[in-house]
Formats: sequence, C-alpha cells, structure tokens
Amino acid sequence: MKNKIATIRQHINDNVKLIIVTKNQSTQDIHKIYSFGEHNFGENKVQELLKKQKELPKDINWHFIGHLQTKKVKLIAPFVHLIQSVDSIKLLQKINKCAGINNRKIDCLIQIKISKDANKSGFSQKEALELFQTQYEHDFPNISLKGIMCIGTLTNDISITINEFQAMKNISCRIPIKKPILSMGMSKDYRIACQEGSNMIRIGSGVFQ
Ligand SMILES: *Cc1c(COP(=O)(O)O)cnc(C)c1O
Repeated sequence: MKNKIATIRQHINDNVKLIIVTKNQSTQDIHKIYSFGEHNFGENKVQELLKKQKELPKDINWHFIGHLQTKKVKLIAPFVHLIQSVDSIKLLQKINKCAGINNRKIDCLIQIKISKDANKSGFSQKEALELFQTQYEHDFPNISLKGIMCIGTLTNDISITINEFQAMKNISCRIPIKKPILSMGMSKDYRIACQEGSNMIRIGSGVFQ
C-alpha cells in the first residue's frame, strides 16, 4: 500500500490533495495507511464512517463522498471535515441547520452531475453556477462552499472522460470563490483528471488492491 501511494504521488503535482477512499476497508488497514502519514480519508456510507471515526485517531480529516440522506446529516455534523457530495438544496439546508446546532461551519463541495449516467446524482452545471452566483451565505450562514466535485463516467473512451473533466474545470473557473477545490479523479482516471486541472483526487482501489 505504501508503494502504491508513493507511485500515485509521483504522478501528481504537490498542489493536488490525495484523499484515500477507505470504504469497505478494515480499521486495521486504514490505520496502517494512517501510519504512513495519510490523514485525509473518504467514506460514502454514514454508518461505516461513524464506526471508523470512533475507532481511529481523532486527527483524521473525514471526507463524506457518497449520497447523504438528510436524516443522517446530524450524525456526521459534529466532526465531518468536508462534505464533497452535496447534491440538492434540501441537503444544503439540512447541513446548514446541523452545523448551526454544532456551533460550527461545515465545508462543502457541490456535486455536479457531469456524467450522462442516469443513476448519478448532483446539480446540473447551470444550477451549480446559479447557486455560487447567488448570495448563498445569506441562506446558508453555517456552510462554507469550497468548490465542486464529480464522478466521471466509467468508460474506456478517454475522449468522454476528457470532455467531462474539461467541463468541470470550466465551471470551477467561473465560480466566484478563491482557489476553488476541484475534486475529480479516481483510481482509473486520476491522471487525466490532474492533466485537466483537478486539485483533489479520491483513490480507493488503486491503494488497497
Ligand atoms: C469509491 C469512490 C471513489 C474511489 O474509487 P476507486 O475507483 O476505488 O479509486 C472515489 N469517489 C467516490 C465518490 C467513490 O464512491
């Protein structure tokens, strides 16, 4: 696992943040990765995240990267580092409320539905831009929007992947925040993503398999 992480780091710039996706992995293996100095982990299920957060060191930055049900926001609101997968206004409202209850601001990314894949969720490109261009701080004072995230289409056709990542980069250049996070790229496509301007990649199988 250590070698795999080193190889990934060789292929990316220092400005790209590596998030290790720990879903389906044992606490023991995650702890091993932690001991290599990795402190940014991603989970896509609330129950699994809660269990691991309890058992593992408290200085881990936990990223939530899956579909988040509004009724479960309160469970992760006290500690979550970055919710990468905000896919509706309703969810944003709930996160805002739970952040307030916990006396904190929660950092979020807006998930963009970039893939034509019908079962992917997220904002359309237009909806996302509209959100960033409105005075969202007024409606969501306890949320800090940091940028955007996507899950690219799973395909062997590189031109589809490049098109999607270029569209994402284009949006990130148009949102009125300083140095927006552009979270795109997974084990199979992170090198293309970084060529197209990603500054945050989420790697699971590429580290653990
Ligand atoms: C599982 C997952 C990843 C990691 O995928 P790999 O192909 O295993 O690297 C990244 N992002 C999200 C949202 C995921 O659910």
